[in-house]
Amino acid sequence: CSAQQAGGETPTTPPAAAATVDPAEKTTGVGFYFDTVVTITLYGADDTLMEDIWAACKRYENMLSKTVEGSDVSRINNAHGQTVTVDAETWNVLSEAKKLNRLTGGAFAITIAPLTAQWDFTGGTNRMPTDEERIAALPLVDDEQLTLGENNTVTLPDGMQIDLGGIAKGYIADQVAALVRGRCSGAMLNFGGNVYAVGTKPDGSAYRVGVQDPDEPNSSTPTGLMSVTNSSSPIGVVSVIDRSVVTSGIYERGFTIDGVRYHHILSPWTGLPSDSDLASATIIAESSMDADALATACIVLGSEKALQLTQENGYPALMILRDGTVMMNDMMKQWGYTSLR
Ligand code: ADP
Ligand code: MG
Repeated sequence: CSAQQAGGETPTTPPAAAATVDPAEKTTGVGFYFDTVVTITLYGADDTLMEDIWAACKRYENMLSKTVEGSDVSRINNAHGQTVTVDAETWNVLSEAKKLNRLTGGAFAITIAPLTAQWDFTGGTNRMPTDEERIAALPLVDDEQLTLGENNTVTLPDGMQIDLGGIAKGYIADQVAALVRGRCSGAMLNFGGNVYAVGTKPDGSAYRVGVQDPDEPNSSTPTGLMSVTNSSSPIGVVSVIDRSVVTSGIYERGFTIDGVRYHHILSPWTGLPSDSDLASATIIAESSMDADALATACIVLGSEKALQLTQENGYPALMILRDGTVMMNDMMKQWGYTSLR
């Protein structure tokens, strides 16, 4: 079992004489991308898989982050209504984001960016918009006005901006899952609130993913999800093979002023942090991207609509209400959730 730090010193590797890798040999790595601690666990991986994963993370960050100068998203946001050509992958993410906007009745909207830009949930300044600023930005939220043309072209009206914070980690989790398949015997990929379990553990068993208790956010795992083997105490556990588990929670990023909690999932209709009854939403899916966008939308929609939307579209979902009540749709009941409360 060797540990490898992204960007750190090259770890000492055993002589590369052995033709076969022990399928139970465990490699772990930790990196920091997309403003999130990324934890990778590989079983029986080939020699270069870990470094290929970090290279992919870097590439996607440079493509999809709105804070990286020259990224596709930055170029779209700074185009002032001009058409820009983007990477085919960016175009595909935007195309899927538009579908998820429709599927969620507008609750998930990447054109929320002018509003998210008015708040600072992570930088420590606790900035928030005045009512005037906020209301003036609301008409700029409309994913239908993001036009995807032929040959990977994108056009966004001047003044509008996009923010892929609610979907990018899911897309990247899917891409890294595809990258590791066939190059290891199993993997547990943790991109903050997005976990992807590839294959099985070396003994053939499922991966157990812990769902965080919103009332006891653990500062060392500010992700909503965790490996159940660490010291934190999850509220419950789901077991998965070849599936992603995604949690969005209102406790993850935000600040409190005069006893009021302001968090990073905004209602596209008010520009304010969602005031629905949900504290967190956890979704199981083959597509981490779908689950990511849906989990964010669930927080906006509230328990009743969220349970219906996920059930109708075939996603096992678990919701934790602000009052601590745990609710599941029928698909999650069938999947099996072990409460540890
Ligand atoms: P996290 O990034 O903490 O895992 P989410 O997946 O729920 O959490 O995404 C929240 C991020 O998505 C916010 O930080 C913001 O960038 C963006 N966002 C906030 N509200 C919305 C919304 N209603 N629709 C789409 N994206 C949103
Ligand atoms: Mg999300």
